[in-house]
Amino acid sequence: MPARMPRRRNPRSSRPERSIRRVVEGAGGVVINEAGDVLLIRHRNGSWVFPKGHIESGESKVDAAVREVEEEAGVQATVVDPRQTWQTAYVNPRREGRRITWYLLRSPATEAVMREPIFPSGGFFPPDEAIGMLAFEEDRAMLRHVLRAARRAGVLEGTSSEADVPAADVEADDAAIDAEATTVDNDSDASTPTAEDDAPAAKAASREPVPS
Ligand code: ATP
Repeated sequence: MPARMPRRRNPRSSRPERSIRRVVEGAGGVVINEAGDVLLIRHRNGSWVFPKGHIESGESKVDAAVREVEEEAGVQATVVDPRQTWQTAYVNPRREGRRITWYLLRSPATEAVMREPIFPSGGFFPPDEAIGMLAFEEDRAMLRHVLRAARRAGVLEGTSSEADVPAADVEADDAAIDAEATTVDNDSDASTPTAEDDAPAAKAASREPVPS
C-alpha cells in the first residue's frame, strides 16, 4: 500500500473564511440639504446606507463621491470642504476589505430620484431619524462626526441630542478589516485602481477621525 502523501497546506487557503481577497477603496457623500435633512438610500436588501461607490481610474475621491451621489440618488451636491474627510472600513460579503472615504456635501434638493434597481428608494431624513435608520454601526458613528462638522461649518443649525453624543473613534473601524484578515492580498493586479487623494492636506485630514 503506497504511503499517503502528507497534504500540503496552502497558507492562503487554509482558513478561507477568514482571508480577505483585497482591499478596495471607495468614496461617498453625506449630503445635507437646506432643511438640515440627511440623504439616505435603501438597498434592495432593506439596508439604509449613504450613496457611495468605487473610484474610477484617474478620478479623485471627492469627484467619485459627488458622482456616486448623483448616480445612486439623483441628487446634485457640492462638497463643503474637500480637505475634510472621514473613513469607514468593513469586509463585504465577497470578502473584500472596503475602505470608504466620506465627504460632507450640501444640496438644495429635497428628494432623491432613484435610478438604479439595486437602490429602489431614498430620501432626506432628519438627522436623528437617519441615525436610527442606518444599517451599519460604522455609518452611524461616522454620521455623528459629520453632523458636528456640519454645525461648525454652518451647514446645519440647531442642536440634536442624538447627534451630540460622542461617537466611537471612526478610525477604529479599520480594525474591522484587520480583525478579519488573516491575509490581506492587496497586490497590484488584484486591486481596484484608485486615484491619489486630492491634496496632501486632504490625505492628512483623512487620518483624523474627528476634525477639531
Ligand atoms: P460599491 O457600492 O462600492 O460600488 P458594492 O455595491 O459591492 O460596491 P460593498 O460596500 O462592497 O458595495 O458591499 C455591500 C455589502 O457589504 C452590503 O450589502 C452589506 O451586506 C455589506 N456590509 C457590511 N458592512 C457594511 C458597512 N459598514 N457598510 C456597507 N456595507 C456593509
